[in-house]
Amino acid sequence: MSDLLCPICLQQSVKNKESKGDAFEYECTTCGPYNISRSAEQTRINNPVDYRFSAWIRDHQEFERERPKITTYLLEDVLKNLPNYKISEKQMLLMRAIERRTNYPGAEVLMSKEDCPLAWAKNLDELKYLLNALAERKLISLVGERTTKDEGRIKMYVVRTIILPDGWDYIDKHSSQPALTNQVFVAMSFDKELDKVWENGIKRAIVKAGYKPYRVDKELHIDRIDAKIIADIKDSRFVIADVTQQKQGVYFEAGFALGLKLPVIWCVRSDDLSKVHFDTRQYNHIVWDTPDDLREKLYNVICATVGKRKTSQEAD
Ligand SMILES: [Zn+2]
Repeated sequence: MSDLLCPICLQQSVKNKESKGDAFEYECTTCGPYNISRSAEQTRINNPVDYRFSAWIRDHQEFERERPKITTYLLEDVLKNLPNYKISEKQMLLMRAIERRTNYPGAEVLMSKEDCPLAWAKNLDELKYLLNALAERKLISLVGERTTKDEGRIKMYVVRTIILPDGWDYIDKHSSQPALTNQVFVAMSFDKELDKVWENGIKRAIVKAGYKPYRVDKELHIDRIDAKIIADIKDSRFVIADVTQQKQGVYFEAGFALGLKLPVIWCVRSDDLSKVHFDTRQYNHIVWDTPDDLREKLYNVICATVGKRKTSQEAD
């Protein structure tokens, strides 16, 4: 490994760095692979970034998403929406990361200093604390902890973990819980008439509550529910279903989310209320008249039902 400094985690964990036009391609063993523009790189080395940004990048590799292309603009955008996981959530994230690395029950999984982002841990001390917490709860066993120091600084840290029987129960118990993402899947009609409802109503209410609005691309969504949509719903924390215009796809997506035990918030424009499918009338609907009206009501319902998410700005 080189002595190159990663501009994101500021560790000497860069495996490879290549120049690509006006950007660099980095392979960092802590953050994973990413591209960064020259100007963003420069700003970062002089002005260290929130440690959670490293975890955000690492998640891309972990969940097989496209390698992030970091620009100054994207950086600002992401930093505003980084989640503040609770300790219990971090333990769950770590547990799931170990599970993904487990080839068969009883197999050993190595955890190292570079794995802090898997648990959204700030540093090695926090990672060790979380690992020990899982071990004390008898969810994993820890063996062969090894630390190598160089001039007083920790150069290397590895420990072998094995998921214990209670650990598998714990994973089963938590696998049906809402995903630990801040994405909100929006199911609604793509009619032009409703563009303002999306832009000024739904999208803004979600952002204000600290979540990330996600709507499938209009072109991709022509009367079919493909594997990507299913995966997108699974990746979401909750679903907003606006049934105005009574599109079958919206009902399907909301039903699928309910099956996953994800919270679904139903909305409908007042002049369409009487047409709402009788099977779903049992659910409370937010009845709205204008995009502004919907924004306000939806924001309040999100805060009351799912909870407002603390974003990094407020946490500071
Ligand atoms: Zn890094």
